[in-house]
Order: sequence, then structure tokens, then C-alpha cells
Amino acid sequence: MSGPGPQGGYRVPFARRGSVVGEADLAALGELVRSGRSLTSGVWRERFEEQFARLTGARHALSVTSGTVALELAVRMLDLAPGDEVIATPQTFQATVQPLLDHDVRVRFCDIDPDTLNLDPAVLETLITDRTRAIMLVHYGGNPADMDRIMALARRRGIIVVEDSAHALGAVYRGRRPGALADIGCFSFHSTKNITTLGEGGMITLSRDEWAQRVGRIRDNEADGVYAALPDTALADAPALLPWMKFADSVYRHRAVGVRGAGTNATMSEAAAAVGVVQLGSLERFVARRRQIARRLDEAIAPIAGTRLHRAASDSLHAYHLYTFFLTGGRQVRERFVRALDRLGVEVQLRYFPLHLSPEWRLRGHGPGECPTAERIWFEEHMNLPCHPGLSDAQVDHMVEAVTRALHEAHGTAARVAAGHL
Ligand SMILES: *Cc1c(COP(=O)(O)O)cnc(C)c1O
Repeated sequence: MSGPGPQGGYRVPFARRGSVVGEADLAALGELVRSGRSLTSGVWRERFEEQFARLTGARHALSVTSGTVALELAVRMLDLAPGDEVIATPQTFQATVQPLLDHDVRVRFCDIDPDTLNLDPAVLETLITDRTRAIMLVHYGGNPADMDRIMALARRRGIIVVEDSAHALGAVYRGRRPGALADIGCFSFHSTKNITTLGEGGMITLSRDEWAQRVGRIRDNEADGVYAALPDTALADAPALLPWMKFADSVYRHRAVGVRGAGTNATMSEAAAAVGVVQLGSLERFVARRRQIARRLDEAIAPIAGTRLHRAASDSLHAYHLYTFFLTGGRQVRERFVRALDRLGVEVQLRYFPLHLSPEWRLRGHGPGECPTAERIWFEEHMNLPCHPGLSDAQVDHMVEAVTRALHEAHGTAARVAAGHL
């Protein structure tokens, strides 16, 4: 019997939608549409940003159209110059480091910790040089990185740290929240993430007022520059315009000095923000469900030899955007496990292929051997299972049973299973 194939039909799908959209979201949308107010900027966006900043403890939170855009803006705030170096994790979705492809900088991929898949601070320390301008990390799967150690290394040398928190909304690190653990935080509200703003959306959190002003302008079609009063020129005598007109100030009475580049339109719509506010109110419930599913899987997997769990440190909380575990018996065991689980209707994924091995980075001189732990884990041990609030109790029950059975099959201990409770 063969599995249902990657195009669906799985009894337990990986994540068609990771987040759940319900009646409360629809009610907020209906209220907005019927109100006749602007659909592009208004009270919902402000409310969403305020609540997000309060929840994460970030100084500034600005909503944007995606997590990828948040990361692009983050890289812009670094003001990278040719020859600068940026240290980055290879174990993440490509968007974390993609914006660096457009800069003449040296990217140094830093190997990861085999238990957390987060940046290994000991390796990180060896990669820091006088040219290191920034560190780009991810809280892999929603498990907070070792931020105290990483920030201590960075602070000492004035290195800016960007935390890609796309997985980590709802996570807690030693009493604090991702988004306020480093200099800049980037979040995604894509429909697979811990909350969604109707499919796409993002947030950037910023610790510096100057960055917040810059990002606020760039996302709203203004040039990225420092604005100052117009000195003594012909334009100072230009005909007076109505004082409330934007151009009266920004063009005639002021000028931009030190313009760095163009702006863009990355404004989150009111519809997305309205749903964001409702979703944020459900965040703890969504994450609690993720943790509950993860606990069921942990309990089933832990007693079986040749497995290792992906756990948060005892003083932190995992947000379980991804459920991860490791099979330590080698490639054949993993292969057998995947086939068995597929046959039992549970969709397995591997997130993510180490970035330093992908074509765009290999063309820039990166390749095998650069991050041995990331490579070994991905090619031999790594496994991700469905874990999201869209799963019913029956689906979770089925998955737990299927995982247990597939693990025994993979290890060739099926006989023991037959004699056991399954
Ligand atoms: C989803 C994700 C992004 C990108 O977010 P989008 O909103 O899809 O653009 C960035 N980094 C990580 C780690 C992600 O998982």
C-alpha cells in the first residue's frame, strides 16, 4: 500500500493552515467593511501594533505586509557597507538571510546546537571579527535561542542582533518575549504561523527610535532619509500651501538630507490588522494547543530508543510553530520511519534544508563542511511532525499511535509492538 502522496489526502496534514480563523475574525472584518472607514490605515493597525508591542515588550512594533518584508527592512537598518560581515544561521527558512544576497557583504554561516537547532554561541564567538556588523538568528521552531550568551557577545562589540521570530510568537525566554530580546525582531503572520492576518502579514519590532521613524517612512512610500528644515533657498519663498498638506512640510518647508534610498509600500491593510487583533487575543489558546500536541508526541517518542526530543530550556517556553524530533539510528532508520508514517496517513516534513548548501549561497562560495552539525542533523536525524491548532483530538490520537508504530517498524522492533498494546 502506498501513501496518499504529497498533494494531500493525509489524515493528519502537516499544516494547510497552521492558524485557525473563526467567527470572531469574521465579525471584526464585517464591522470594518460596514463601517465605511478606510481599508488601508486606521484604528485597527494602531491597535494591533500597540497590543503587539505590549505583548512582546518591544519598544516599537510596526506592521508590514509579510515576515519577508520585515526582514528586508531589518537588513536596511543595518546600513551595510562593502566588506562588512554578517553572521547567520543556516538552519532557517530562506527569507531570514535572503536580503543579504543584494549586499556586497561576507556572510558567515554559524553552526547550530544539535539539540535546539539554534545558533551555537561557542561557534558564534569564533566567527566574530572586527568587520562583524550583525548577527541574524532564528528561534528555531519557536524554541528561544540562547539570547543572554549571544547578546553578551554582541553588546561587547556593538554588533546588531536581528531575531527572526517568525516561529516564536508565544514563546518565552527567561520571562521575556522574542521581539524584545535583541535589537530588531521580525514576525510573520503567514497562514502557517502561530497567528495569521488572513494569509500574509508581518511585524517588525525595533529598539531604537530612529529605526522606528525610518521604517515608518519607508513602508509608507517616503524616501529613506533624515529630514531637516530647509535652509535658505528659493523654495523657502514658494507660495504657501494649506498647512495640513503633507507636501507643504516635507517638500517645501523641509528637505531630506542624507537620503539612503527609496521607500516602498509595505502597509498592512486594516482588514489584516483587524483580524490580527482578534488573533492576538487567541494566541495563548493557540499556543497552548500546540504545546499540548507536542507533549503527547514527546510522551510517545521519548521511551523509544534511538530518539531525541527538541525541548526548550527549563526556564523558557517553546511556542511549537514546528514540532521537531531526532532519530539517531542513521539514514536507513529514518527512511523506514518516514515511509511507515506516510503509509499511516501522517504528513512528514523536514524544515529546513541548510541554507549554505543551497544554490544561491553555493554560488557565493559556501558549501559542504561549513556547518557540520547542521548538515549531519538534516541529512540523518531531523524530523518534523504536524503540530497546529487545526488538528482535532482524533487526528492527534491517530498521529500518536502512528508515530509509535512507525518508530518500532523503523527500528525493526515490530514484533514487540505486536505483543504490546497496539
Ligand atoms: C515564514 C518565515 C519567514 C517569512 O515570513 P513570510 O510572512 O512568509 O514572508 C521568515 N523566516 C522564517 C523563519 C519563517 O518561518
